[in-house]
Amino acid sequence: MQRGKKIEYDAIVVGSGASGGWACKRLAEAGLKVALLEAGKPQSDQNFSEHKPAFELKYRNRAAEIRKTRPVQSVFDVCNEYTADWFVNDLEEPYTTPKDQPFLWMGRLRVTGGRTNVWGRVSLRFSDWDLKAASHDGFGEDWPLSYKDLESYYDLVEKYVGITGMAEGLEHLPDGQFQPPMPMTCQETLVRNRVKEKLGRTVTLARSANLTRPQNGRGPCHYCGPCDRGCITHSYFNSVFTTVADALRTGNCTLISNAMAHKVLMEEQTNRASGVLYVDRNTKVTREIHARVVILCAQTQESTRILLNSATREQPNGLTNSSGALGHYLTAHVRSGGGNGELPAVGEQPTMGGPVKPVGIYVARFRNLKGQAPTKNFLRGFGYEGGSNVEFNWGAPGFGEAYKRALREPRVNFDLTGFGEVLPRWENRVEIDPNVKDIYGIPVLRIYM
Ligand SMILES: Cc1cc2nc3c(=O)[nH]c(=O)nc-3n(C[C@H](O)[C@H](O)[C@H](O)COP(=O)(O)OP(=O)(O)OC[C@H]3O[C@@H](n4cnc5c(N)ncnc54)[C@H](O)[C@@H]3O)c2cc1C
Ligand code: SF4
Repeated sequence: MQRGKKIEYDAIVVGSGASGGWACKRLAEAGLKVALLEAGKPQSDQNFSEHKPAFELKYRNRAAEIRKTRPVQSVFDVCNEYTADWFVNDLEEPYTTPKDQPFLWMGRLRVTGGRTNVWGRVSLRFSDWDLKAASHDGFGEDWPLSYKDLESYYDLVEKYVGITGMAEGLEHLPDGQFQPPMPMTCQETLVRNRVKEKLGRTVTLARSANLTRPQNGRGPCHYCGPCDRGCITHSYFNSVFTTVADALRTGNCTLISNAMAHKVLMEEQTNRASGVLYVDRNTKVTREIHARVVILCAQTQESTRILLNSATREQPNGLTNSSGALGHYLTAHVRSGGGNGELPAVGEQPTMGGPVKPVGIYVARFRNLKGQAPTKNFLRGFGYEGGSNVEFNWGAPGFGEAYKRALREPRVNFDLTGFGEVLPRWENRVEIDPNVKDIYGIPVLRIYM
């Protein structure tokens, strides 16, 4: 271990993604000296490739190598030849599962901004139907916060982030501080109107962190499409060019990249956190950094891993774990179900490089709400994301001139995918695997899900 002069900060924030970005921005702007420890490498506009066609890539975005080094990450198509090196190398930083409970831990980023680099940007508010769900259906516990407690924070975040959306006046999907809505396609509007008329359900623009108006030096979206490869006009929300950039601009925040936090250091006399032990990912040298406060924002499982790895004589089961609940009640969201089909084109023509709307539609929850009889064998609710796009008729029959003509016949695909809640259950959990370490020598997680 390298022990140099003790560097002191007011606060250490571990992780620079959605939550860490906000923590370091607010603290640095309030005048505190903040160290931002980020396991990933630095991110910049030079790495963004949203305008790069696949034919400019070495393997035309079909590189087989990615599946070898990132067999789990590449299951999610946002980890591809454009973005693979933003993601964790699954072989170097593994996790384990029991044989009969395979769990795909995807979306593990190792770059400043974390998952906000590649996220889907759908930005919905919880309501008391979510926060107080246990009072409605008797499962689990209510949150100790209500919507009223959160509302002003939602306002603050949304005004800064920039969310395109439409107000709908639904109690179970509260409206937010929206920028003007991106237009829906003709088919999306048709579905919105028809579903309301026939089923009384709400199909709205997917409330999404894409600007339609300039804000804080960020340009409005110019409809190029693949936001998960970055955005040089900074038109979607990525903490790297918003919250983290604001924190660094204050001069109070120091970003320490390639710094893999291993454990929280504790002061024996006071039993309080005094710093973080981390490994430099380039040199593999272990270092210590000190502060009065440590804030873990390294992603849910990674932060839990740090707490479990920080066990001391006084807290042998990991920090903040006097209840024994740390690592239990792991939840995710279910992303499945739905369907797709074709709708008639209404004068649209397919184009190769034309505008691509990066935001689709959202079907608001319609199950187990006020005045409805509870659904048998099913608690709570779900929504659908989806949308329509106009495509060439690649499967058209024929050859030569006839094929070229048929190819241009527009095909309008419409798809919907369901997004549901995983209920918190004690048995869905993580623990430290005593037999496996990552290449930095840090014990890894075993996930039971
Ligand atoms: C493809 C995809 C689509 C998504 N779409 C949506 C969506 O539409 N709407 C939505 O609300 N959410 C979406 N999400 C989820 C959303 O991105 C996350 O909920 C959010 O980013 C979580 O923020 P976080 O700060 O907890 O973690 P992250 O944003 O992941 O940031 C964690 C950071 O911590 C760093 N880190 C990890 N371990 C360590 C360590 N030991 N030491 C130091 N640093 C560490 C990582 O490198 C990373 O930068 C999506 C996620 C993915 C992957
Ligand atoms: S579609 Fe809009 S937000 Fe997405 S990368 Fe292009 S300009 Fe940026």
